[in-house]
Amino acid sequence: LLEGRHLDKSFGKPPRQVLFDVSVGVRPGECLAIIGGSGSGKSTLTRILFGLERADGGEVRFRGGSIATKDGAAALRRQSGVVYQNPFASLDPRWTVRRSVAEPLRLHGRKLDGAAVEWQVRQALGLVSLDPDIFLDRYPMDLSGGQAQRVAIARAVITSPSVLLADEAMSAIDVAARLQILDAFAAIRERTPGMAMLMVSHDLGMVQHIADRILVVHDGHVVEEGTARQVLDHPKQPYTRRLVEAAT
Ligand code: ATP
Ligand code: MG
Repeated sequence: LLEGRHLDKSFGKPPRQVLFDVSVGVRPGECLAIIGGSGSGKSTLTRILFGLERADGGEVRFRGGSIATKDGAAALRRQSGVVYQNPFASLDPRWTVRRSVAEPLRLHGRKLDGAAVEWQVRQALGLVSLDPDIFLDRYPMDLSGGQAQRVAIARAVITSPSVLLADEAMSAIDVAARLQILDAFAAIRERTPGMAMLMVSHDLGMVQHIADRILVVHDGHVVEEGTARQVLDHPKQPYTRRLVEAAT
């Protein structure tokens, strides 16, 4: 569905390379976890995959077409959703939950009447286990970090994207709330079986239950890739072995 081939990326002057010949792909319905330490290049990789940054070398294809073309980029933008680490950064403080969650419908130019929008917003909040009657008229200021992140997730999935990116969506949130976020992602997967997910995390323990496949990035190189079972049960690299030990 979404695939990066031989991606290279450098930053700065003199250039410092942060991605080295990285290839990665995710199929419809699949959940791929991208794991690695801080600064290993995970966010850069996903920003390139979602067309938010350009690679120096290699290419990204979405549904078989390059995203370097205008049509390819537009298709990906229309059919993807993104959730970031800090939910408050992606929610406008002046907007109610209702308006924030509904906004992507407007951006996508969906012609819906007020009642249809309201219905969709309620559905999306239900998916992340937030009671619409309690939360629809609240402002970000009146939400906990975990609630705000679930609002951000509802907003990312309201347009039924075919691929969802969550970059460290659970790391700024306390442990109890993290489980609710994880449950929300699991519920979304169940309700939208064709949707692909990319979950970026430095914590293997957090994503091991939801990921089908795991890709381990270390200093800009893919050091390991396989099904979640393969990687967890038989890590090949010493680096992955340490991650697995830390997670279990
Ligand atoms: P974290 O787990 O902390 O989020 P990460 O794996 O997401 O880390 P990246 O954010 O992709 O890592 O960063 C990889 C490297 O690229 C880092 O050394 C970072 O400083 C560098 N980098 C990222 N973006 C830029 C930029 N716009 N300009 C210069 N350097 C950058
Ligand atoms: Mg990052």
